[in-house]
Amino acid sequence: MKEISKIASNVKASTTITVDSLYKQMKADGIDVIGFGAGEPDFETPENIREAAHTAIRNGHTKYTHSSGMPELRKSVVHRLAEDCRIDYAPEQIVIASGAKHNIYVTVRTLINIGDEVILPAPYWVTYAEIIKMAGGVPVIIPASEANDFKITKTELEAAVTERTKLFILNNPSNPTGMLYNEKELRDLAETCVNHDLYIMSDEIYYNLVYDGKKFTSVAELGEDIKERTIIINGVSKTYAMTGWRIGYSASNLELANIMGNYLSHSTSSPSTISQLAAIEALKGSQESVVTMRNEFEKRRNYIVERINAIKGLSCRKPDGAFYIMLNLEHQIGKTLGGKVINNSDDFSLAFLENGNVATVSCTGFGIDNFVRLTYASSMESITEGINRLERFVGV
Ligand code: PMP
Ligand code: GLU
Repeated sequence: MKEISKIASNVKASTTITVDSLYKQMKADGIDVIGFGAGEPDFETPENIREAAHTAIRNGHTKYTHSSGMPELRKSVVHRLAEDCRIDYAPEQIVIASGAKHNIYVTVRTLINIGDEVILPAPYWVTYAEIIKMAGGVPVIIPASEANDFKITKTELEAAVTERTKLFILNNPSNPTGMLYNEKELRDLAETCVNHDLYIMSDEIYYNLVYDGKKFTSVAELGEDIKERTIIINGVSKTYAMTGWRIGYSASNLELANIMGNYLSHSTSSPSTISQLAAIEALKGSQESVVTMRNEFEKRRNYIVERINAIKGLSCRKPDGAFYIMLNLEHQIGKTLGGKVINNSDDFSLAFLENGNVATVSCTGFGIDNFVRLTYASSMESITEGINRLERFVGV
């Protein structure tokens, strides 16, 4: 048989999704496993949103919509971006897709020609690197250290720019690190993008999950020149506990939004109509549940960070947002744990799952070794038990 596409053959499976499937299968098999793997809020989607979906079905909203999303949903996104992020867009600049992951895919496909370089700070969410390759682009990685809170500087960004650079990917707050760039840091990075004529894809899906009263700044609110070249990525999965509903959105200049709409018209036709109607309620209805969930996440973050830093030989930084922590394994490398020599974070993650019954994600897929990512998007009870198991596993 003839050769399969080289680009497709080179795509690696998502490590986060792989761990999640394994965890869910173990649970279904009756194994007492704790999930610190995929970043999926354990909360149920708020009742008013679920009710909106029931109403949609009852009222017969079961047909295709505009391929870039229902006008009413695009208006709801405009409303939320203005209210929460102080940025003005027209509804035509908003593109709704089947999850933010899908928006990212369509954005990268819209911008990248074969061989274009895309700058990606590491640790990065695993999907960015693969999507760049799926579009024929070249990821240019800038490693960010734990000592610098896993953030890059303007000087580092400048040094990575070449003639071929087209796009800079920023994820703020970050998955997997939970760290937040402040306004000054963002202004510096934005200046480089403007000076070198780069697009910036700013994935702000965790913008509502920022703790300690810190202020979230969207890169697009920093001025017209940066807004013109910014593609904001966002969605309802994290803020409203709606991972399974598959609704994401982008906000960009009109030219890009129109091209993305054309692309979507041939790939999905439109996202699920029922989910779109539920997302309107999420974005326009009461935001009380968002505050309740955020407060709960903050409590869990405080607990998990304190517990981990009290374990000899383990440590983590206190993240500003999202629902992840980076567990530093520096002092575990070379040890034998669960009967296995730990040479890297893949070994640790696998041994901890097999012998400690806790699912975590090795950070090698995020472009950094000697760390595993733990999510605290699970109940306090599970977090407590998971950390007890971690303590036992590393032998303290
Ligand atoms: N961006 C980041 C940084 C994420 O962690 C996720 C996780 N799902 C997504 C985008 C995609 O979200 P979704 O497709 O569920 O909207
Ligand atoms: N984004 C979440 C994570 O990083 C969910 C899984 C995925 O979409 O990759 O765990």
